Amino acid sequence: MTSYREALKIVLEHVNTLEMEEKPLPECIGQVLAEDIYSDYSLPLTDTSGPDGYAVRSADIKGAGKNTPAILEIIEIVRAGVMPKNKVTAGTAIRIMTGSIVPEGADCVVRFEDTDEPANKSGPNINNPTKVKIFVDQKPGINLNQAGKNIKKGALLLTKGSTIGPTQYSVLTTIGKNRIKVHRRPVIAVISTGDELIEPGQPLTSGKAYDCNAGTVRALICHYGGITKICGIARDTKESLLTTIRKGLKADAIITSGGVSKGDYDLVRLILEKAGKVFLARINMGPGASFAFGEYHMQSNGKTRTVPVFGLSGPPAGCMINFETMVRPALLKMRGCTNTDHPLIEAIAEDAMSEKKQMEFVCWTDLKLVNGQYRVRFNMTSEKGPLFSLAKANSLTGIPVGREVKAGDKVRVMPLDW
Ligand code: AMP
Ligand code: MG
Repeated sequence: MTSYREALKIVLEHVNTLEMEEKPLPECIGQVLAEDIYSDYSLPLTDTSGPDGYAVRSADIKGAGKNTPAILEIIEIVRAGVMPKNKVTAGTAIRIMTGSIVPEGADCVVRFEDTDEPANKSGPNINNPTKVKIFVDQKPGINLNQAGKNIKKGALLLTKGSTIGPTQYSVLTTIGKNRIKVHRRPVIAVISTGDELIEPGQPLTSGKAYDCNAGTVRALICHYGGITKICGIARDTKESLLTTIRKGLKADAIITSGGVSKGDYDLVRLILEKAGKVFLARINMGPGASFAFGEYHMQSNGKTRTVPVFGLSGPPAGCMINFETMVRPALLKMRGCTNTDHPLIEAIAEDAMSEKKQMEFVCWTDLKLVNGQYRVRFNMTSEKGPLFSLAKANSLTGIPVGREVKAGDKVRVMPLDW
């Protein structure tokens, strides 16, 4: 049986990063950069003021202090976005607002807090002052944002593989980018399998089960940045499975759930063996050891197109673990992410998990931060059914083969932020 690490390597070898598309920036949120971004501008373009205050010549305020103010004549008020009309000359000052262009002649800006400007005023100074008292001695350059201080023209700001989140959006907009190249989002077809499955909303009768994997897998695809195409429930016949798979062949990958174990009606691998290839039939990790991965070969216009197929385990808990550990990294690779590893953190076990397993085992756990330390609980509820644990879980904790965990042990936890 294939170990989790080997299985993941095989999966990643068989999925490709998708092609790029150039689009308006607002449409790229959550997508991954397919180009390095260099700044077309030096920012700020000219020296600008840091605080609201007065642009002055440092020579004019030499030796100024609380009891020995320098008194300067106010010759202009400069607001952001407007070119100053005057030069600061000996004995003068220009009232200046944050981000405004520093007038010629001034070599520093004195904050309002270091002048006789009334404290806590809001809006314009209604006294319309013609003179200002400066209470500080400042060196040239103080409170100025020198041209190019933020970024120099031609500097590399973001690299390929960065996801466009709020901070990336902010810096891209600051340098004026409005169109960028990103990798296309993968479209993933979702198929549930099983004669017993019914859609939520229908009454439950003996032997039937609600199809919860379709919606769950959709939520996971959506969370990790893909686009879902729901193809419906395939019944446990070759014809039904093939017909449903064909609905998904335009997608970038297909996810099935159920029908991948050793039962008489588990036909996913059988279909894949006939219509393509099976690379993995089972993995040495549970829940979700019944995980298959392969590809479907589709002939169109004399060419063969291969579509990766992930055969996830039927039981919902295993299906989700297969997704988090196998599909997520593949999906991220398709999206163009350079790092596909799930973040792992070290935590202290609050209780024991004493069942030793023959395979790498993953438990649904409850992770929390207590006094600056991560702590994780295996037995989250006194209720017995696994559904209660699943309802409370916010993380997955891996247990190596044959190991048991005692309270106080260090374990590696995968936080799930959904
Ligand atoms: P199978 O591998 O098809 O034999 O399925 C194993 C178990 O998972 C069975 O109890 C199925 O009813 C259950 N199962 C399979 N698919 C789903 C699904 N889409 N939603 C909920 N349970 C499922
Ligand atoms: Mg089944």
